Amino acid sequence: MEMDLDRFCRELPKLELHAHLNGSLSRSTMLQLQRYHADAGISDETNAFFDEFQIGAGDTRNLSDCFQVFNIAHALTSTPETLKLATTLTLEEFQEDGCCYIELRSTPRETSHMTKRQYIDAIVQAMQYVLI
Ligand SMILES: [Zn+2]
Repeated sequence: MEMDLDRFCRELPKLELHAHLNGSLSRSTMLQLQRYHADAGISDETNAFFDEFQIGAGDTRNLSDCFQVFNIAHALTSTPETLKLATTLTLEEFQEDGCCYIELRSTPRETSHMTKRQYIDAIVQAMQYVLI
């Protein structure tokens, strides 16, 4: 009986009404983004942060330390390609969790690699790729 309830809950369609892109990056997505940066030769911005990323049992860092993760997330999504990859992987994970409606939030950010316009275009392209 418990298994049936478990499966029922997993299979229920879900709505996500307030997900921030950079706050939704899974560990797997962050690792893929870091690999992408390394392959593209732009790992310099992320490697300094990345060793700090592991948060586990016994971790003594406080809340503001944990917000450092957002610096890592920003560094990992600083090009149109990595932003598109991050959006694609994140939307696919929500879909795999049974999410059929999502309000994914992100503030257009200008970096040394892209304009705010390119930021928006990258996210829109990822949405079209995943949702069609
Ligand atoms: Zn919010």
